Amino acid sequence: MAAPEREKLAINQATTMKQWSLREAVEGYAARDIRGISVWRDKLAECGVEVAAELLRDNGMTVTGLCRGGMFPANDDAGRQAAHDDNRRAVDEAAAIGAQCLVMVCGGLPDGSKDMIDARIQVADGLERMLHYAREAGVPVAIEPLHPMTAADRACVNTLEHALDLCDALGEGIGVAVDVYHVWWDPKLEDQIARAADRILGFHVCDWLVPTVDLVWDRGMMGDGVIDIPRIRGWVEAAGYRGFNEIEIFSERNWWQRDPEEVVETCIDRYAEFV
Ligand code: ZN
Repeated sequence: MAAPEREKLAINQATTMKQWSLREAVEGYAARDIRGISVWRDKLAECGVEVAAELLRDNGMTVTGLCRGGMFPANDDAGRQAAHDDNRRAVDEAAAIGAQCLVMVCGGLPDGSKDMIDARIQVADGLERMLHYAREAGVPVAIEPLHPMTAADRACVNTLEHALDLCDALGEGIGVAVDVYHVWWDPKLEDQIARAADRILGFHVCDWLVPTVDLVWDRGMMGDGVIDIPRIRGWVEAAGYRGFNEIEIFSERNWWQRDPEEVVETCIDRYAEFV
C-alpha cells in the first residue's frame, strides 16, 4: 500500500477528549494542518451549536462525523420515544455543523433483558423511524458495527454484514462506518467491505492492543497493536471510498493522560507509517 494521503488525515475529538474542549481541539488540530474532525455531542453542547459551526467553518474543518446517535432498544414505548427524540436532535445538530454523517451506536439489551433477537428488531425499527427525518435533513446515517464484546451494553449490530443487511432493507440515506477496532477480526471483512461499496461513510483507525484491559477505553495508537491497517484501508479504497482516514482513540491508561500536543504529533507520525 502507498502511504495514506496527508490531507485525508482526520482526528476524532474523542482522541483528546479528556484534555481539550471542542474549540481547543479544532484549533489544536488546525495548527498542525489537520482539516478533518469528528465531533462529539457533549462537547458540541458545551461549545454551543452555532458557535461550533462558525468555529469549524473558520478553521476550514471538514466534519467527518457527529458522534453519536442510536441507543434504540428500550423496555417500553416511552423509552423508545425518548431515543427517537434524541436521534432527531442529533440529526439537527449534524445538519447544523455540516457533518458528513451521523454515526450510530445502535444500543444493546435493555435493562434486565436477555432477548437479543428483540433488541435487534428494535434497532431495525428505530433506524427506519429516524431515517425519514435524517433524509429530509440531508444527513447520511452511518451504522457503526461494534465488536461483539459490546453486544450487551453498547451495540447489538456486531458485524459489517449485519449492518449492510440493515442498509439493504432500509434503502436510501444510510450506510456504514468501518472502524478497524471493531471489525479487524472478521473473516468476512474483505468481502463485506467490497459489498459496502459507496455506502462506506467513514473509516476509523486505531490499534488493538495485546492484552486489552478494558472493553471500550483501551484502544491503541496505530503501530502499537496487531491490526494490519494498510491492508484494510486498501480494501476500503478498492471499494471506492475516498473520504478521510479518521483516527479515533479512547485510551484511559495512556493517550488521555498525555499532553494533547504530543498526542496530535504522534497521530501524524503514526498515520504516515502505520495507516
Ligand atoms: Zn469508530
